[in-house]
Amino acid sequence: MIDTILNAVPDPLLQIDGLGNIANANEPALIMLGDWILGRSHGTVLRQPALQSRIEAVQSGDATAEARFERSEQSGVTEYKVRITALQADGSRGLLLHFTDVTHLREAEEIRRDFVANVSHELRTPLTAVLGFIETLRGPAKDDPAAQERFLSIMEEEAQRMNRLVSDLLSLSRVEAAERMRPSDVVDLDGLLQASLASLRPRAEETGNTLSLEIDPSATSAASIIGERDQLMQVFLNLTENAIKYGGPDKPVTLRISRGEGRGLMRGPFVQVDVTDQGDGIDGQHLPRLTERFYRVDTHRSREMGGTGLGLAIVKHIVNRHRGRLKITSEKGKGSTFSVLLPAS
Ligand code: ADP
Repeated sequence: MIDTILNAVPDPLLQIDGLGNIANANEPALIMLGDWILGRSHGTVLRQPALQSRIEAVQSGDATAEARFERSEQSGVTEYKVRITALQADGSRGLLLHFTDVTHLREAEEIRRDFVANVSHELRTPLTAVLGFIETLRGPAKDDPAAQERFLSIMEEEAQRMNRLVSDLLSLSRVEAAERMRPSDVVDLDGLLQASLASLRPRAEETGNTLSLEIDPSATSAASIIGERDQLMQVFLNLTENAIKYGGPDKPVTLRISRGEGRGLMRGPFVQVDVTDQGDGIDGQHLPRLTERFYRVDTHRSREMGGTGLGLAIVKHIVNRHRGRLKITSEKGKGSTFSVLLPAS
């Protein structure tokens, strides 16, 4: 009976007898700890003082107890919550240990904590500046209209920075909330890209960047896909804006649509949009982390350009929702290409 129960549970379970030896273990427990554990004392198998002291508490009378147990593997540390329950069998007091993997909970908690700390930090910098200038306007600059004008425009810039940050945070949370819902509009990518370029053209002209769209012959007939128009627009606006910002003044930025079929990252037919700039490029070590929230290669430069550090995180979530892929290739000194691959309809 105990065997049947142990093996019906997908989490690792250990039965410890009245002498403190491992009397029984289900398959997940044997995979976690190895076959050698059967018949060994729990002190040899589970050498962690916090867990040992809780086991001893139940052996000496407590009905249940809880403890943490960590295992280091090549892939990292797995953390378990262990529930220890007394088992009365054959007149002796045995124990049942139930291991629940809580690694993902700990990771989610860490991500949440980092995120809150980052947001607070990002808001505090402009807020401190605004508060400082209010003081100055009330005090030293009280009768100096020229200084007042200058400080007010800096305050406006800082307030706008906070505004951008809050809008990006809201976009990110909306995109995350909808990530599991499949989009259903039919979107003509060619038209959508033309529209996003048209809206960025005035901005590009200020810095002398030329924006162009190329359509590969493979994509002329069918570049429509199933997606959400506004979200896809945001993807290409963010990527093109980055290409303008980091590509540098007077440099061309090119968007290119092509079509492919089941190779590399995508299984079926797909449409690919490459956004290419001729900037300084990005060092390889940064590429895997670029889509993390608030990750920037050069924080100072990003801030100077009005960046929030959230643009690529938003792009990645939208692309995921569309079951697509984001591929970044870059060569130092030559430029970068951000490619969005989306399943073709
Ligand atoms: P930001 O608001 O800082 O631009 P993003 O999430 O859009 O935030 O981008 C994150 C970082 O990735 C940027 O700070 C920059 O360091 C780098 N980056 C993004 N696009 C490019 C690009 N086209 N060329 C070089 N670096 C880029």
